[in-house]
Amino acid sequence: MPELPEVETIVRGLRAPLEGRVLARVVQRRADLRFPLPHDFAARLQGRRVARVARRAKYILIHLDDGEVLLCHLGMSGRMIVTDEDAAPPGPHDHIILVTDRGAEVRFCDPRRFGMMDLVAGAALESHRLLADLGPEPLGNEFSGPVLAGRLAGRRAPIKAALMDQRVVAGLGNIYVCESLFFAGLSPRRAAYTVQGRRAERLAGAIRQVLNRAVEAGGSSLRDYVQASGELGYFQHDWAVYGRAGAPCPGCACDVARTGGIRRIVQSNRSTFYCGARQR
Ligand SMILES: [Zn+2]
Repeated sequence: MPELPEVETIVRGLRAPLEGRVLARVVQRRADLRFPLPHDFAARLQGRRVARVARRAKYILIHLDDGEVLLCHLGMSGRMIVTDEDAAPPGPHDHIILVTDRGAEVRFCDPRRFGMMDLVAGAALESHRLLADLGPEPLGNEFSGPVLAGRLAGRRAPIKAALMDQRVVAGLGNIYVCESLFFAGLSPRRAAYTVQGRRAERLAGAIRQVLNRAVEAGGSSLRDYVQASGELGYFQHDWAVYGRAGAPCPGCACDVARTGGIRRIVQSNRSTFYCGARQR
């Protein structure tokens, strides 16, 4: 499943082919993805100029010149492929194809169809049912220690579970929550409401740093964010703790034979990886 940094690199990769361009032709090859596509979907997109491409949590927002926004989510396995009309014909899972006035094609490929697209009036975007309850954007200017502390106040759940709640912070998945807690030195078991003051500052900083590093690493591993195949986004990354049960902790000079190294526990049916010595 694409995580927030991958969606961010996809958004950056879509800017060059789409921003300022007119959608000269839009091909819709199904009536539905995860949800039914909106009425007159292709016709409403066709002829529109793309004003800008942005992101909210793990949603891609393609702002159009008539004020509407094409809202996209990649679901479990959705991909955006940038190509041109001379490329191989679309495959069976290329459900939506945007062709610009410069001949660039953006294909939305989603074999499992857990992805979605909707057309929303710009003024109604924030109140859209999928966006209305989202917490602050972790890479946004408004995200800070005090903002995070406010979201965590009164929550008795473990901090790990609280950070997975999209109402607390938008767009964080299991991997980035584990990594952020490690760099903040906070135990995933700690009650969320105790993360206030300097701890909240540390955690907000760690979240930003972990996400930004992943965006930079993902971007640098792809040429202008577009792979040779035209595919945007998915990338491998080295994690400090995630998926490293039993490995030496990269933050401590700990003796694995004595400490067991990075620990794995299960919280809310999801694996959590952490260092018991460093994270309190
Ligand atoms: Zn450690």
